[in-house]
Formats: sequence, structure tokens, C-alpha cells
Amino acid sequence: MKAYLILVGSELLNGAMIDTNSIYMAEKLNEIGVEVVGKIFAHDKIEDIKKSISYAKKNADLVILSGGLGPTIDDLTKEAIGEYLGKILVVDELHKKEMERKFAERGIKVLSKNLKEVSVIEGSEVFYNEPGIAPAFFIENISAFPGVPMELKNMFPKYLTYIKEKFKLNEKLIVKDYIVWGIPESLLEEKIKDYFTDDRVFLEFLVKDYGIVVRMVTEEKNSTILNDLSLKLQKVLGDSILYEGYRPSEEVLVKKLLEKGLKISLGESCTGGMITEKIVSVSGASGTLVEGIVTYSNESKVERLRVKEETLNNYGAVSEETVKEMLEGLKTSVGIAVSGVAGPLGGTEEKPVGTVYIGIKLENEFFINKYLLKGDRERIRIRACYTAINNLLQILEKRGCE
Ligand code: ATP
Ligand code: MG
Repeated sequence: MKAYLILVGSELLNGAMIDTNSIYMAEKLNEIGVEVVGKIFAHDKIEDIKKSISYAKKNADLVILSGGLGPTIDDLTKEAIGEYLGKILVVDELHKKEMERKFAERGIKVLSKNLKEVSVIEGSEVFYNEPGIAPAFFIENISAFPGVPMELKNMFPKYLTYIKEKFKLNEKLIVKDYIVWGIPESLLEEKIKDYFTDDRVFLEFLVKDYGIVVRMVTEEKNSTILNDLSLKLQKVLGDSILYEGYRPSEEVLVKKLLEKGLKISLGESCTGGMITEKIVSVSGASGTLVEGIVTYSNESKVERLRVKEETLNNYGAVSEETVKEMLEGLKTSVGIAVSGVAGPLGGTEEKPVGTVYIGIKLENEFFINKYLLKGDRERIRIRACYTAINNLLQILEKRGCE
């Protein structure tokens, strides 16, 4: 089954807003075996939305719109669908009552202009919007969801259950993801492409900051083929496979540190707390994270981490010696320290922009590496951040095997 997505909103076309809804919808649709064959961004104009629906209808079985279900004059999605299908809008009584209740809680009166927000195309299947006001609906293989991501995410699973039943989508797909780190995408493809000659297994690469996701998808009945392929990949990629499963590496790291009962602290210079922030973003981080210190200036490196002034004078802040002392200044058994030139200013011939020293401490062992990272200031910092997290993961993994 094929789906076309239509993302409605002029803010998505004028650079003011990034579309994340289609990413979410595509991922969820793929899980039930629905392929997204295209996306259209449409301005908040009835004619544009209607044209988009018409095109999408010709090219897919399902048309899914997001955005423009609200009460304001620029919310025109329902009017466009109504005109396209030649059907009228009717008030959904359940959502009307809910709107009255939710408004009353805030001391607001429902006005007639608010009724538009709880209206749907006549004859639609309606999905209940728990956190919001405007319901999602489905009619003649066209469905519409509010643009607000939280509301979309509340209703989309209910919609998928409905679609699965209605179209008897019983085919179960198995997805296997390996997160690969340390080889560029082109080389990765070169290494593994010969294994993927069987078109029953769909192979795809997703490039993320924390690595390349090698995704294999197949129908449940082909599970042995997938298992054989997985073993071959493990053999050919070896240590480049960081872990299995689609999630960022900070999640895997925090889980591993908790499992091993290890405490971590960080001394960050050019990453400015980014690595600590990634760790804190994982629920349960308090069980392992003791502190993350942003020692940006030389002064701070001396004061907070007891780096010797002499070391800074002799070798500079961006050096193996400084990073080693930063690690020594951390109090926990596991430590990460980073110092580098993120640019665009501050590069020298000896230490050009992108030079970053990344150090890991594991009890009495120190692992410090020099990198020359590419990109602008932000890319260099993100790259340094994930190099540190992934290096520590690899070190913990190796130690676990011994
Ligand atoms: P509302 O009832 O809030 O007006 P709506 O269904 O009319 O909802 P829009 O007005 O199009 O939706 O968008 C509401 C908000 O939802 C936008 O300001 C934006 O923050 C977010 N949004 C809309 N479309 C997208 C999208 N494709 N990806 C991510 N966020 C989006
Ligand atoms: Mg709106």
C-alpha cells in the first residue's frame, strides 16, 4: 500500500518552520508496511491544497494531510478537502462537548467561530484528539491531522490501527537496524552491497549524528534470510557495528554505565557541555552522571580540573597533555575530556580548525586520540560529541568481552 503526505502550512515553505511531522508519519507507516511514495508542501491556500490532494490521489492509495485544521482564517485544509470531495462540513458532537469542557476549565466561552475547529467532513471516521481540540478524520482514503506534533502523535496510532483493519494489512514486517560508526557511507556501501542481491530484503542507510543506521526490512516469512544476512554483516563489519537497534548512542551509553554501576564525569572545552547535555537527556542519567564541567578558558581548566599552567604554556589547551590532565582532574572512575579548535577562528598551521583531542578515562587507563574533524563550528562540535560518546561505548564493549 502506498501513501502520499501533504504538509500544509506556509510557514513550512518560507523557512520559518521545519517539518518533522512527515518524518514521524513515514516511520510509523513503514512499520505497518505502508510505503510513503512522496510528500508535498502546500501553502495555506484552498486551490494549492486541492491541487496537492488531486496529485497525491493519482499517485497513492492513501492521502494524509497535516496542518491547517485550526480555527483561524489561514486554516483551510478542511474546506479544501470538502471542495475536492464535494462534501459539506459538519460539527462533531463529541469534540464540541469536549471543547466546551476544555474552554470552561480555562474560563473561556465557546463562540460560533470555534465550531469550525470541531467540524469534520460529513461521513468521516473521526479520531479523538485527547490533548487538543480539532479531531483527525478519514474519508474516501483521505485523512487529515492537526499540525501540532503532540496532537498528531496522539491520534496517529489510532489511525494506523483503523487502517490496518480496514485494508487488512496483516503482513508483518521485521526491521533490523545496526548502528555503524567509523566508516564513511560510500565505503560502507562498497563493503556490503554484494550481500544484498535478494530483493526480499530491503536495505537502507540513514545517516545520523551518532552513526549510520543500516536498516534491513523484510516480511516475517523471510526471517531466516534476514538472520543469515545479519550474521554476514557482523562478520564483514566487525567492530564498526557499534550496537543493534534504532536509538542514539547516548541512550546505549547511559544504559551500559548503569548496568556496570559506573559513575561518569566530564570536562568539556569546545563541546561546551554538549556531551553532558546528551547524557542528561536520557532518563535515568542521574544514576551514573556526577558532573559535567565546561572548562572553556585556560583559567577554568587550571581552577576546576587542576591542569598545570606549565602544561598549558608548553603544549597549549588543545593538546594530548592538557586533555590527559583534564581527565586526571575528574573524580569518577569514568571520564570524558575534550579540547579542540571548533573554528572558524583560532586555527593555526600546527592545529588547524577541526583539531580535537578526545580523551576517555576508565579507571587507571587513558585513551586519548587526536582528530581532524570537518565542517563548520556546529558540525565539528557535534562530531566531537559523538566521537567521545562512541569511543567510550567501544572501550566499555571491549572491556566487557575480556
Ligand atoms: P492549530 O489548531 O494549532 O491551528 P493546525 O492543525 O491548524 O493547528 P497549523 O496551524 O498548520 O495546524 O500548525 C500548528 C503548529 O503545528 C505550527 O505552528 C507548528 O508549530 C506545528 N506544525 C505544523 N505543521 C508541522 C509539521 N509539518 N512539522 C512540525 N510541526 C508542524
Ligand atoms: Mg492553525
